[in-house]
Amino acid sequence: MSPATENTAHNAASPAAVKPSNFLRQIIENDLAQGTYATRQWGGSPGDAAHHAAGAPDVAQVRMRFPPEPNGYLHVGHAKSICLNFSLARDYGGVCHMRFDDTNPEKEDVEYVNSILDAVQWLGFDWQFNGQAHLFHASDYFGFMYRAAAYLIESGHAYVDEQTADQMRANRGDFGKPGTDSPFRNRPPVENLERFRQMAQAQHADGAMVLRAKIDMGHPNINMRDPALYRIRRATHHNTGDTWCIYPMYTFAHPIEDALENITHSICTLEFEDQRPFYDWLLDHLREGGLINTPQPRQYEFARLNLTYVITSKRKLKQLVDEGHVSGWDDPRLPTIAGLRRRGYTPEAIQLFAERIGVTKSDSWIDYSTLEGCLREDLETKAHRGFAVLNPVKLVLTNWDELMGAGHLEPCTQPALPHPAHEATTDAAGAAQPALRHFTLGKEVWIEREDFEEVPPKGYKRLFPGNRVRLKAGYVIECTGCTKDAKGVITEVLAAVVPDTKSGTPGSDLVKVKAAITWVGVADGVNAEVRLYDRLFLDAQPDAGGKDFIESLNPNSLKVVTAIVEPSLANALPDQKLQFERHGYFVADRMDHVQGTNPVFSLAVGLKDSWGK
Ligand code: ATP
Ligand code: MG
Repeated sequence: MSPATENTAHNAASPAAVKPSNFLRQIIENDLAQGTYATRQWGGSPGDAAHHAAGAPDVAQVRMRFPPEPNGYLHVGHAKSICLNFSLARDYGGVCHMRFDDTNPEKEDVEYVNSILDAVQWLGFDWQFNGQAHLFHASDYFGFMYRAAAYLIESGHAYVDEQTADQMRANRGDFGKPGTDSPFRNRPPVENLERFRQMAQAQHADGAMVLRAKIDMGHPNINMRDPALYRIRRATHHNTGDTWCIYPMYTFAHPIEDALENITHSICTLEFEDQRPFYDWLLDHLREGGLINTPQPRQYEFARLNLTYVITSKRKLKQLVDEGHVSGWDDPRLPTIAGLRRRGYTPEAIQLFAERIGVTKSDSWIDYSTLEGCLREDLETKAHRGFAVLNPVKLVLTNWDELMGAGHLEPCTQPALPHPAHEATTDAAGAAQPALRHFTLGKEVWIEREDFEEVPPKGYKRLFPGNRVRLKAGYVIECTGCTKDAKGVITEVLAAVVPDTKSGTPGSDLVKVKAAITWVGVADGVNAEVRLYDRLFLDAQPDAGGKDFIESLNPNSLKVVTAIVEPSLANALPDQKLQFERHGYFVADRMDHVQGTNPVFSLAVGLKDSWGK
């Protein structure tokens, strides 16, 4: 991981003084100080120069945008971009537009649109500002884009090229070799305009011709060698239906979307750095033609998030879903926002992660444990505690009936949270008392199979014949042995209760033990399905360098066990975050958990400190 070199100074004067600064914050603060965008008008909705000129001074100090293509579910990389754009807008008195970049008719779907809105809102952001929703669709701008293209043609900056795709590719040249002009390049504007109209009127076949910018086929930046602006594609669009059979290319559409929406700072990932000259070229021409509001938006690039052990590409995630390697877009093993949510991640944990990794201008890999650490940190104070036995074996307290009376169930309690202040009830005298969990101890309890050893390894402190441990919240017990079946498998662990050692009673700690173990009473324990998730991939960079990521799928990424949990855990609400003491953080599954009757839990993240021997 490279150090976040841009993340240095704190700017005490900034409205976001509590947050560490970064190069984007510095750019925005500079623009605000210089009043770069102070004179801009806003027409109340996206639109061209005339529309905004008829409006009022823009009360939004900055306008950012989050512009996903609705062709899949959002992932943790998008979460970084969402946190960045929406929090910059919020911190500097502006708004972040939620924009669907839906200019590509083929791969887009309403299911994806809804999942994206859901993900952004769940992360804690919205697109309301000044009493207005700022939810936009790039496809609403197709009319203006057509007009902009016609303007470029008329002003001699675009032409219709009828070369085949192969010819165009061959004539583009490469890094070392300049391109070759198309034979159609010098066609007069009137002819180009006529051809372009014919393209839009479906008079030509798909792929027969494209509209291209007329820049420079010898330009050192290949993106400036007459990039394509429009292509013919007979496809039904989910928003505009069959109105159009020509669709703008992303590189043409995106700057226009920003300009119509009065975006001030257009933030994108580093791959688009080479596109910036075209972004500026296009908007410079449209400004000269009086088509767009001024000053025009500017593009800034930041490093995308690369996270180890996961894949962050909607297309590849779709493949995992479509081929059934995972249960769906919200599979808890996926780094989709829906998957992270189902896994037990909180918006606060993801926001913390976005802040912690910072914003830099150089690509790096972030270790998956950084994300897990953020969840642990957030759940530490929030997660309801409880006892769960994941690999149960029965413990029989052989002197229970004689000592306590046959069938006796001893009530036990434990705090629900580690910090009483977070969830307190008030006692009769009005004093705050920690909220308690209630459960009972009887003659038979479930313990972890690993908590007993017939012949203890060196340093082992838990149950073995002759050793004493505390049943946490209950009594100290002394192990006396075990029973086995015909195959030699241990069926019961046997122990005797040490009298007068109940936790919380006077003198209970006079009997010293080296370990306390968690347990669940046979009388009130509830069977629960527990899904133990591990990494989906065995390779830290599953798709780096064009590798086939399917090959590094972890065959053991999901193990399902039947555990026994204490009553308070079985009564958790769906989506409630829990800590199974000694085991880790779990979440009651949002979809499958039924409170009380059918508990289903998923492992969110393990505890930092593994249980000592
Ligand atoms: P994918 O390849 O997964 O489809 P994309 O970049 O093509 O990703 P878009 O829907 O176009 O997906 O992305 C919306 C926004 O999210 C863009 O502004 C993009 O820069 C940002 N984004 C996407 N992936 C990442 C990432 N890994 N890290 C940071 N930002 C990202
Ligand atoms: Mg994309």
